[in-house]
Amino acid sequence: MAIKVRDVIRWLEDLAPLHLAEEWDNPGLQLGDPGDVVTGIMVSLDFTQEVLAEGLEKGVNLFVTHHPLIFRPLTRLSWNRPQGRLIKEAAVRGASVYALHTNLDNARGGLNCWLAEALGLKEAQPFGKADPLEKLVVFVPRDHAGKLMNALAEAGAGHIGQYSHCTFQALGKGTFKPLTGAKPYIGKVDEIEEVDEVRLETILPRSLRTKVVRAMMDAHPYEEEAYDLYPLVNPGVRGGPGRLGSLPAPMALEELAFTVKKRLGARAVRVSGELVQKVDKVALCGGSGGGLISLAADLGAQVYISGDLKYHDFLLGQSLGLALIDGGHYWTELIAVSGMARFLEGKLAEAGADLPVVCTKVQREPFMELN
Ligand SMILES: [Zn+2]
Repeated sequence: MAIKVRDVIRWLEDLAPLHLAEEWDNPGLQLGDPGDVVTGIMVSLDFTQEVLAEGLEKGVNLFVTHHPLIFRPLTRLSWNRPQGRLIKEAAVRGASVYALHTNLDNARGGLNCWLAEALGLKEAQPFGKADPLEKLVVFVPRDHAGKLMNALAEAGAGHIGQYSHCTFQALGKGTFKPLTGAKPYIGKVDEIEEVDEVRLETILPRSLRTKVVRAMMDAHPYEEEAYDLYPLVNPGVRGGPGRLGSLPAPMALEELAFTVKKRLGARAVRVSGELVQKVDKVALCGGSGGGLISLAADLGAQVYISGDLKYHDFLLGQSLGLALIDGGHYWTELIAVSGMARFLEGKLAEAGADLPVVCTKVQREPFMELN
């Protein structure tokens, strides 16, 4: 079966919906044609000349990256500048480039979940801003209510604390008249129909809206689904990129720092705090996470693991009594490459498509440390 770029985009946006991205970000299709048939996928943190050459050599025409190729607004496309040259070559060679950036950082099941898993954090939960809640009301024939409820639950609706499949269902009568051209599931054209329908209500975080509505439409038998979706003022569920959890057992800060270094494969980590202090409550955020230091301390974290921390970030951590471990921007995000590749391999297998998914071997941390 031929897989198009738009199919892969749909999978990636189920994993990391675009509305989860920060306002200043520019994830999504950077370059290319959603209608192109995919010959292979290359996954990398960045889209560079080297990555393009590597992918083309492997017969790949879709590049999935973490950092967007086009980040700041383009003011010119000049073939004698590096970015212009890269975009031109990618376009001429028929490549598509798709980026999942802060939407992947913020997604449940995204980059920071993979990072928390890799570091063995237990019960890691987002600690950033709340994800607003929405209410979905859908009207469905009685004999389809169970199937629809399961589909909604699978897509992430109806989860409240430690309970799933939370819905309210009331029986009523639905009416409709199929007009000329309609292909009704029940009833005949030009005749008013009355059907026993269930009014099914459930709740969902806004970040799952696209996924839940799509699941509802797939599981609903009607040609035109009748549903309402409205915002709630209930406090939402905390979201954002950071995760806060516990270590399986308390350990000395020094041991944790070496564990981070080893698990991420980093060349070095930078640490502040008492190396002998035992830590248990850990916050983390891959990439460049200096902005979450104060919040992590406020929420009781003893140590915060991130990347790209600056001199003043370390001073702030010290003043708040929060130990910091900087694993490096590159190393704390590298897990996104294997994570996205694994995800895409799973989706391709589900679709019965035999396409290569290749993790770049040419991209490296873009600097060296000389001691
Ligand atoms: Zn990054």
